[in-house]
Amino acid sequence: MALNPFEMAKKQIEIVAGVIDLDPYILKYLKRVERSLIVSIPIMMDDGTVRIFEGYRVHHSTIRGPGKGGLRYSLGVNLDEVKALATWMSWKTSLLNLPLGGSKGGICVDPFKLSKKELERLTRRFTAEIINFIGPDIDIPAPDVNTNPQIMAWIMDTYSMQKGRSVPGVVTGKPVEIGGSVGRANATGMGLFFVLQGLVEKLRLDLKSLKIVVQGFGNVGGTIAELLYKHGCKIIAVSDISTGIFCEDGLNMEKLLEWANQGNLLKDYKNNNYNLISNDELLTLKCDVLIPAAIENQITEKNAEKINCKIVLEGANGPTTPIADEILFEKGIHVIPDILANSGGVCVSYFEYIQDINSYFWKLDRINAELKRIIIEAFEETYKISEERKINLRTAAYIIAVSRIAKAIEWRGIFP
Ligand code: GLU
Repeated sequence: MALNPFEMAKKQIEIVAGVIDLDPYILKYLKRVERSLIVSIPIMMDDGTVRIFEGYRVHHSTIRGPGKGGLRYSLGVNLDEVKALATWMSWKTSLLNLPLGGSKGGICVDPFKLSKKELERLTRRFTAEIINFIGPDIDIPAPDVNTNPQIMAWIMDTYSMQKGRSVPGVVTGKPVEIGGSVGRANATGMGLFFVLQGLVEKLRLDLKSLKIVVQGFGNVGGTIAELLYKHGCKIIAVSDISTGIFCEDGLNMEKLLEWANQGNLLKDYKNNNYNLISNDELLTLKCDVLIPAAIENQITEKNAEKINCKIVLEGANGPTTPIADEILFEKGIHVIPDILANSGGVCVSYFEYIQDINSYFWKLDRINAELKRIIIEAFEETYKISEERKINLRTAAYIIAVSRIAKAIEWRGIFP
């Protein structure tokens, strides 16, 4: 049985609580979520039948500002998964010192089995069900697994229709034509790149000579694979939901991305020099940087011993379990934790949100420069603590993130 992600999230905060002497009541509070909403979403299917889906929106913490976090459409979605993901969002926004909290949402559905019209009705009805739970100063959704700018546009439109005016700041990751930000689509991949560059410098490695393995070929995995390929790295394996694909001499990323962007699966890609491999094989390939960029629970006590790389760069949320974390640390593998590594997405989401509120839009240069500044600052702070205390990067990042929230709770006090 895979580890329950919310149990894992609670375990992670217990680990850091031990290191920073967190007040027991704050620990208890942060191991819970502020509020969760479960909704039923009836949808008229194209064939005239009605199906009912279950959706969730969870606010883990709004102590430091409105909730912020993605919305995913997947059959793996359940309340505990969403609670874990909301918790990780609180750490992420706090680590970057953005004036935001943490939240997440999801619908238990296989979106690839729905027509575009059904997907639109599902999104609009879900938005109507959670309408009082979201808003620019309450909680701001964004894309996540299997959701995209079109879905964000439907959320923005549904919300705006209810309010009687356009409210672009209710959601981020929108198309640029309706208040989205340039640079948002690639932001998570860009952030991964900046943070990896930072660690590579510290370890005195040469970026160009790195061999890379990427699990996941969606927005996050695809973007970081492309960026590293363009910088001269050898991408020796990638995977999507259908298969892994491996070539010791390096894969041609341009061709593979073109193939994937046309909606094709990797298992159907034809090249005699490429071998198809399983997910387990992919994760344990010998390489310099392993980038899990799919879903939770991928590096566990079962395969951690066999992980054979110098750096794990967590593109996904929660890909490494706490026990696996310990094993990797013992093995001398540097894990750049999700809350730091993949925080570029929420960082540019924040830029999008403030651009919407101010009705003043930035150029791409400014977006990337500010993103780099914020994420590198968080990286430097994290790295320093990990060196000083001889702890892994995750615990160091958690020390910063959790302490900042704890301080905010102390200042605000307990109402009433
Ligand atoms: N879903 C992304 C994440 O997990 C982005 C969230 C956001 O932009 O609010 O960080």
